Amino acid sequence: MPLPLGHTAIGLAAYELGSHNNSLTSRLKLIIFLTILANLPDLDILVGLLVKCNGSAFHRGPSHSLFFALIMGFFASKAWRFSSHIPRMKFGMCFLIVFSHVIGDILFTASPVSLFWPFEVNWSTGFSGWSDVLNLVFVQGFQDIGVIIGSAGLIMLARLIRRYNRRSLALNKEKFWELKSFRRISN
Ligand SMILES: [Zn+2]
Repeated sequence: MPLPLGHTAIGLAAYELGSHNNSLTSRLKLIIFLTILANLPDLDILVGLLVKCNGSAFHRGPSHSLFFALIMGFFASKAWRFSSHIPRMKFGMCFLIVFSHVIGDILFTASPVSLFWPFEVNWSTGFSGWSDVLNLVFVQGFQDIGVIIGSAGLIMLARLIRRYNRRSLALNKEKFWELKSFRRISN
């Protein structure tokens, strides 16, 4: 299953694909904010651990749905009003990052999510105590290496495409002005 590192990588790739600039790596606060948003649905594991000492008790329920991503996307887009440390991001982008978690779970795991909750709900089965969850997060985190490399590849591709588009736009502008001044001279 994608773990926090994998979900963070997917979230960062989703941000890169949806944004118009290459400023991600220079903004630590933004990376922290994106990491939180990309892992937000898995807070249901923490709730299960705190309430029932079982991380699977409430896992993959409402927090792994389109509805949750919409609601959290809305609140995350307003969160900058409460602290200057929180970056200002549009609703669509916040939604995309939270929803990238649900999509990641659908694509890379076998057990179902509750995509259309409240119309469907698929709770996770089994038992995972504190040690299981901590082991998964901190010891086995790098098992998502394929997802991390794939996401890094997407980030680089998005940057290359943006750079190419910007360069060809600049060249077209240059050509336009050259043509204009040539016409002026010949007239
Ligand atoms: Zn999840």
